[in-house]
Amino acid sequence: MDRKRAKAVIVGHAVGDALGVPVEFCRREKLDKQPVTDMLGYGTYSVPAGAWSDDTSMALCTLDALATFGVDYDRILVNFGKWYYRDEFTPTGKMFDVGTTCSIAIDNYFIREMPYTKCGLADERSNGNGSLMRIHPVVLFLADRDMPLSEKLQTVHTASALTHAHDCTKIGCGIYAFILWELLKNPSLQSVQKGLQKAEAFYSGQEACKRYGRLFDRAFGKAPRSEIASGGYVVDTLEAAVWCLLTTESFSAAVLQAVNLGGDTDTVAAVCGGLAGALYGYDAIPQKWRDTLLKREYLEDLCDRAFRE
Ligand SMILES: [Mg+2]
Repeated sequence: MDRKRAKAVIVGHAVGDALGVPVEFCRREKLDKQPVTDMLGYGTYSVPAGAWSDDTSMALCTLDALATFGVDYDRILVNFGKWYYRDEFTPTGKMFDVGTTCSIAIDNYFIREMPYTKCGLADERSNGNGSLMRIHPVVLFLADRDMPLSEKLQTVHTASALTHAHDCTKIGCGIYAFILWELLKNPSLQSVQKGLQKAEAFYSGQEACKRYGRLFDRAFGKAPRSEIASGGYVVDTLEAAVWCLLTTESFSAAVLQAVNLGGDTDTVAAVCGGLAGALYGYDAIPQKWRDTLLKREYLEDLCDRAFRE
């Protein structure tokens, strides 16, 4: 894995997250009147401009474990615990945001002493975007590995299932992986379609895959904005992130489009920002935003450790 390309994904994701944090939960109508155009501080949370949220924290927990131990699910969960209970892997030294499914899963592992294969939640209500938002380090780590595709997807699914174990979220992470792998091979919008086609073929016949039917439609990029939901449901988040990518022509336009959909702004923009980083490259991420991002050097050092080529 080329380091600079990995950094584009990790930093692109974090920049999207940080752009969305101050307006998380804002309604679309409100943002239509006053759209976000830059990194802001002190909106929804009492944190300065450039602060990223749980999306990036949990991704860094994963990246740190991968860099040190390779694919080791217990080590990933140990880092989730350091974040959740001890405020490590945070931009400001204080954990300020966690999803319900993640918090229950982490407690299942540490307090109820469940194994990593059992601590994630698999009920219908646990189909939020909390694993999709932190899966990209695993996808990057697997990109160049010489292993069968089915094993790569199994790894992505198991990593999702540490917190989110329903087939719908596991497939959502898998579809994201197919898109990102294609973008890493060939950074073009056609690669997004190619990734979607490969994902559709891989998952065809699986019941939960039907929920992503609209995303697999070749005309999805032409869907009107009013039909794009941007809440916390994993299907909505993946749809919104891909739609923002398909309907814009630069890194900044894609992530701002994502933030200004409202709702789960940080996560939609983070998922979009990671893919947009792969599509447009590191240098396309506005320098002003990179410089505002808290602890950017730490993020990049982690990339250097995880991706040695
Ligand atoms: Mg968040």
